[in-house]
Amino acid sequence: MAFAERVRHLVPEGAYYMLARAQALEAEGREIIHLEIGQPDVATFENVAAAGVWAIQEGYTRYTPPAGIPALRRAIAEDAGRRRGMQVEPAQVVVGPGAKPALFFPTLALVRPGDEVLYPDPGFPTYAAMIGVAGGVPVPVPLREEEDFSFDLATFDRLVSERTRMVVLNSPSNPTGGVLGLAALEHIAEVARERDLWVLSDEIYARLAFDGRPAPSIASLPGMREHTVICDGFSKTYAMTGWRLGYGIMPEALAERVELLLTHSIGCTAAFTQQAGLEALQGPQEQAEAVVAEYQRRRDVLVAGLNGMPGVRCRTPQGAFYVFPNVKAWRMSTSERTSNEVADYLLEEAGVAVLPGSAFGTYGEGYLRLCFANSMENIEKALERMAGALGSARCQPPNSSGGGGSRMRGRGRP
Ligand code: PLP
Repeated sequence: MAFAERVRHLVPEGAYYMLARAQALEAEGREIIHLEIGQPDVATFENVAAAGVWAIQEGYTRYTPPAGIPALRRAIAEDAGRRRGMQVEPAQVVVGPGAKPALFFPTLALVRPGDEVLYPDPGFPTYAAMIGVAGGVPVPVPLREEEDFSFDLATFDRLVSERTRMVVLNSPSNPTGGVLGLAALEHIAEVARERDLWVLSDEIYARLAFDGRPAPSIASLPGMREHTVICDGFSKTYAMTGWRLGYGIMPEALAERVELLLTHSIGCTAAFTQQAGLEALQGPQEQAEAVVAEYQRRRDVLVAGLNGMPGVRCRTPQGAFYVFPNVKAWRMSTSERTSNEVADYLLEEAGVAVLPGSAFGTYGEGYLRLCFANSMENIEKALERMAGALGSARCQPPNSSGGGGSRMRGRGRP
């Protein structure tokens, strides 16, 4: 079939691929621990779910204004502005079904064919996809383990050119859990102001920051309001992944364009979902805060467990709910074992579903992504099973006497 150029590069998201494989094994009777998909293990908070049910019963089941109901836009402006220490007007807020539209539509509105867009690698797969659909040229900027997966600023400076139109940031980051510090943000902001660039700042994990250290937003730096699109949402903070509710915050003129894109594509976001979102923002916040403390406990157990395994090295993430351990010692440097093959092996041998780092870009090769939004019991069980599988005779690090490894060769990539 002849497809338009703009969709030819699209491939499935690795997380969905691995979930389907894990589910196929479950259908055969295997018990799988799911550390692959990035969503909270807790149910949507009771008050929020109740508000959604109430809204359906009360008839909030019709079209709404494309950019969202005014009460929700106001509540988002107040909440998002206060948390970032900046003034946000409701007219700057565009509500959508999930955070993804706040990535995709501003990109469509701003990026012209041939424009270059810098984005983090390893990074959320939607970035390269949306840049390509817009006709832009994706330019990966490496996140390096040695720098706690912060932006590599020297490479960033080298890659910025006359053709650069936009820079995508994601802090806290999926898949690394890295947080961009103020110094890095100031550096990027200075370049953006000087060269009149747009910054698309994906802050969907902003509320999931650990050790009492909040992740700063580049939008709050001087002069950056006119250069920044913030992408945020309800999926991760309020355990609402399936409700589909997110938003973008951007200069008013851009918000009007993005609203038109919403008008002519999705129409609007479900009315009852928006009512539930209103309750999420205006109701009690204790549960959202308690969940962060619990994630931090799980992070610590997972990081310690991984670092105790031979051939595995894991940094302590400062945010989000992912760890990104380095498993290069498993002979992957010779490309004998890709991270894809290690992930495959762990799924089949240990019944633990994780994602290969390569699902997040070239610089993710040699790493795995594990999501710790799962019960402590499952995390401990997964660690035990992984230690067993990685220590078995069939999968030995390079300097061990084990050998073998044939099971892990020649597997297909997602
Ligand atoms: N941005 C990042 C970095 C994510 O990890 C995700 C979801 O996994 C999203 C955006 C999309 O969020 P939503 O499900 O609200 O569209």
